[in-house]
Amino acid sequence: MTSILYLVVPCYDEEKMLDITTKKLSSILDKLIQKKKIHKKSKILYVNDGSKDATWDKILSFHSSNSYVTGICLSRNRGHQNALYAGLMVAKEYADIVISLDGDLQDDTSCIETMIDQYHHGYDIVYGVRNSRKKDSFLKKFTANSFYYIRQKLGIETISNHADFRLTSKRVLDALEKYREVHLYLRGIIPSIGYPFTIVYYDRNERIAGQTKYSLSKMFQLAWDGISSFSIFPITSILYIGIFLTLFNLILLIISFVQYFMGIRGVLSILFFSIYFSLGFILIAIGIVGDYIGKVFEEVKARPRYIISRNLCEEDKYE
Ligand code: UDP
Ligand code: MG
Repeated sequence: MTSILYLVVPCYDEEKMLDITTKKLSSILDKLIQKKKIHKKSKILYVNDGSKDATWDKILSFHSSNSYVTGICLSRNRGHQNALYAGLMVAKEYADIVISLDGDLQDDTSCIETMIDQYHHGYDIVYGVRNSRKKDSFLKKFTANSFYYIRQKLGIETISNHADFRLTSKRVLDALEKYREVHLYLRGIIPSIGYPFTIVYYDRNERIAGQTKYSLSKMFQLAWDGISSFSIFPITSILYIGIFLTLFNLILLIISFVQYFMGIRGVLSILFFSIYFSLGFILIAIGIVGDYIGKVFEEVKARPRYIISRNLCEEDKYE
């Protein structure tokens, strides 16, 4: 028996991309069905993440004209990770295999077939990993490499250069459902689930139409979530840095006292510098602790990560 594949595509203001994306993904499904690699009930599941443009209208019109297209509409914009999670949770009710990819076709769709083949070889997760970051700016390359280095050093399971282009089997998604955290970082959670996995390498394309929705601040927030949601080292390290700074300042204080009584000047200015430095460090430390407390606050409230205002998969079931 062939497996049902759902392609989950989160969309936020992607009206300019949807024609191209739908055409491309439909032809891929056509080809895979012909080759008997997937079941004919396979679909493209668009997640409209509170778009302000005509994205949802387009999804509705494709849904009525193209039997591969289905979708869900979130009640408002919840961000890429929540939108993707919503799509995965809906898709797993209908599919055996789910592949998530971006709506701008930056992920190489020619890898979809290889991913399916790997699934048939017994892998539950197939990560799409970028071949290189040659096209990225120096800043993006530097921040990305530092991020993966820090995560590795902190012992957090990491698939470097993997975004959210990934195949997951139904049993992986059933396990993912048990993770209740509000601050989602799927690239970190999925490797922690376990199950056999493999990697396919690809070259990331340029965005064809529309604009990136990931501002620099959103990217930093996601990267910080990728560390703070998986490790408490940033807070525990404050203790060690604090002990070091206290001892360092104490030594300077003793030296400056001795020099004062010997009539020598100079070290006092280093002491002042050190005090200001420590003050800066204290404020950063409070900020880090505050951030963790903020996260605890949000996790304890456990508000829903998204609300679905319309589910076309559900509607199709009763037709
Ligand atoms: N996206 C989303 N909600 C958001 C922001 C982005 O669903 O709040 C979608 C977006 O439509 C795209 C994917 O997430 O399909 C990746 O976003 P984008 O291409 O803007 O990010 P980049 O590739 O520039 O990092
Ligand atoms: Mg993109």
